[in-house]
Amino acid sequence: MQKVGFIGIGNMGWPMAANVAKAGYPLTVFDTDPQRSEQFVSDQTGDGRSNVNSVSAIHGLASCDVIVTMLPTGKIVSDALTQGGDDSLAARLTKGAIIVDMSSSEPTGTRDLAAKLAKHEVILIDAPVSGGVPRALAGTLSIMIGADDAPALELVTPLLQAMGDRLFITGGLGCGHAMKALNNYVAATCYTATAEAMLIGEKFGLDLTTMVDIMNVSTARNFFTDIVMKDHVIGEKYATGFAVGLLAKDVKIAADLSEAVGLPLPVLQLVTERWALARDTLGGQRDNSEAIVAWKETAER
Ligand code: NAD
Repeated sequence: MQKVGFIGIGNMGWPMAANVAKAGYPLTVFDTDPQRSEQFVSDQTGDGRSNVNSVSAIHGLASCDVIVTMLPTGKIVSDALTQGGDDSLAARLTKGAIIVDMSSSEPTGTRDLAAKLAKHEVILIDAPVSGGVPRALAGTLSIMIGADDAPALELVTPLLQAMGDRLFITGGLGCGHAMKALNNYVAATCYTATAEAMLIGEKFGLDLTTMVDIMNVSTARNFFTDIVMKDHVIGEKYATGFAVGLLAKDVKIAADLSEAVGLPLPVLQLVTERWALARDTLGGQRDNSEAIVAWKETAER
């Protein structure tokens, strides 16, 4: 089995890395928050796994065959791998090592990063995910793969199958990241429209729970009516485990992509502005499900 290094043990990285450990891979984790990686190793050891350890510096991953990154942005991924030039992790990895970026990164940046890594004979595959924390825990994520190197993809496929059960090869390098941003644009639009309908309905005297019940058996049904609105919005839990800053970033990636292909379409522009407003009003670390609170406040001003 390949030696796996996992960078970023956050809301998603933790359960994904746990499934890699469960599948038996020799696993080394690294996070800039050392408490997280230490706690992760201690939890895995407590669950009877002896194949997991952590390192306090990224260079400790240099002997790994495959590196998985699950970090907030593509810029952070690129910096983590290439900063330091000849002393960077990319330079220290064995030739032929494979990096799998599972973060939701910018597709054009992914192609730039691949060119930098190629100088060190390191291969990049993009494999962002969808399904959130519950499906990361269950190991049933959807994984959208972009790859130019078929043998490298074949090598990492069993590893990806440890984290997800719906693997899609979307095309060449960057296509996975493009697909992920477009998926999240559509999802963010569903939330935005559902939230606006709820704000208007509530003001007119409709009951919010009844509204969601009706939408769930009608044509407005979507991920948010199904999974999020009752517990997290009406129940005010606001704890889906996906930060509003990250969703705003994803919609902006889709908007940048639309510019790059010469199709700057209007709904995408508006949805990008709405999520930037939610992020700036709430603070980027708050849960994405709380965006309705920011929009309610600004609508009532
Ligand atoms: P998170 O903020 O919970 O986790 C990120 C982790 O990376 C943190 O533990 C942080 O300490 C660590 N980190 C930051 N910079 C680092 C660096 N330079 N080196 C090592 N570690 C570093 O984020 P998340 O919710 O796990 O999301 C990760 C990625 O997955 C993002 O790109 C996000 O858009 C995407 N995503 C998230 C969800 C979700 O539901 N949360 C779903 C699908 C995709």
